[in-house]
Amino acid sequence: MTLKSKKNTEPYMVHNSIQCLECGQILVSRHIHDLQTCSCPNMATVDGGLLYTKTAAKDPSKLKDLCIYSDDDFEKIRIFASRGTRGEFYDESLHYIPLALLTDQHLQNLLIYTEGYANQNELLKREAEYRRKNKELWQKK
Ligand SMILES: [Zn+2]
Repeated sequence: MTLKSKKNTEPYMVHNSIQCLECGQILVSRHIHDLQTCSCPNMATVDGGLLYTKTAAKDPSKLKDLCIYSDDDFEKIRIFASRGTRGEFYDESLHYIPLALLTDQHLQNLLIYTEGYANQNELLKREAEYRRKNKELWQKK
């Protein structure tokens, strides 16, 4: 079992995930009490959401760490870091959308909604900045 905790001044986790190398299943823990377990005898588990990553397995050497942190390549972050949403009109079941697939309007709304949450807000600002820069690149071509 390993326990990692990150302070705000250090790079923070943006995606908490492991792969069980016995069955190949990829597990993602979305929030602190979201314990995920694979279905094979190795019983790989991941927990902790974005606060910390806690993993366990019968054979821990058959676990692959797939966690992503805020200092990883942003091209990678925006594919895996996700926002939970119930849809624009709050009428859908909870599902997760990677930053890269948020609509521009959704991104703008989230920037306002997350103002009090430093890490989440910073990631969304980086996504907005990424889109602005890439739009400029396309317009120059
Ligand atoms: Zn497994």
